[in-house]
Amino acid sequence: MGLNDITARIRQAEVAAGRAPGSVTLIAVSKVQPEARVEAVLQQGHRVFGENRVQEAAGRWPPFQARFEGVSLHLIGPLQTNKARQAVEMFDAIHSVDRPKLAQVLARLAQELGRCPELFIQVNTGEEAQKAGVAPGETDALVAECRALDLPVVGLMCIPPVDEEPSLHFALLAKLAARNGLSGLSMGMSDDFERAIAQGATHVRVGSAIFGARDYD
Ligand SMILES: *Cc1c(COP(=O)(O)O)cnc(C)c1O
Repeated sequence: MGLNDITARIRQAEVAAGRAPGSVTLIAVSKVQPEARVEAVLQQGHRVFGENRVQEAAGRWPPFQARFEGVSLHLIGPLQTNKARQAVEMFDAIHSVDRPKLAQVLARLAQELGRCPELFIQVNTGEEAQKAGVAPGETDALVAECRALDLPVVGLMCIPPVDEEPSLHFALLAKLAARNGLSGLSMGMSDDFERAIAQGATHVRVGSAIFGARDYD
């Protein structure tokens, strides 16, 4: 476990899948992790990080960004419209666009602020009631709506149900992306990132396998 181990496993999975070395971006998911662990990974030279709450990211990242050049921040958690402005200002990518209303707010902010993060549309591949994401059958329409709003949609994202084989969900996401002409696939976490790479992941979101278990207390 740890950054070097995960990076090596990503390289092996790329080769095994016939993918170009370096074609998969590792997003180190630092949510809830102690500052010292995050700093250690920054010291090792890693620069791409994922957070799932705007507020938490806004508190911790500006001081790190003042000390470490070239940090890229990805929002991987649900986004409320009242936090959208801060998210557009702070993040380089948002992986959780899941409804027309949010797309409309992001488009207005992009106009006003003159910048927009790269966007992934989150798909609820398991159609789980408690999970965020657009239903698979509504994905094409949301992609089209985002494009009509001139938003920089680069791919799709999913979080498979915990009790199902993730590869089936990764394959579904890849199919939905291909038919919409999207090249980005944000899928795969600590337990299944190699399977995601086999199915075409371009971005894997790995937390505990890099930083250790999260302590929510
Ligand atoms: C927390 C989180 C991850 C990372 O989970 P690990 O199992 O710790 O790798 C990835 N994606 C999302 C959306 C998350 O919220």
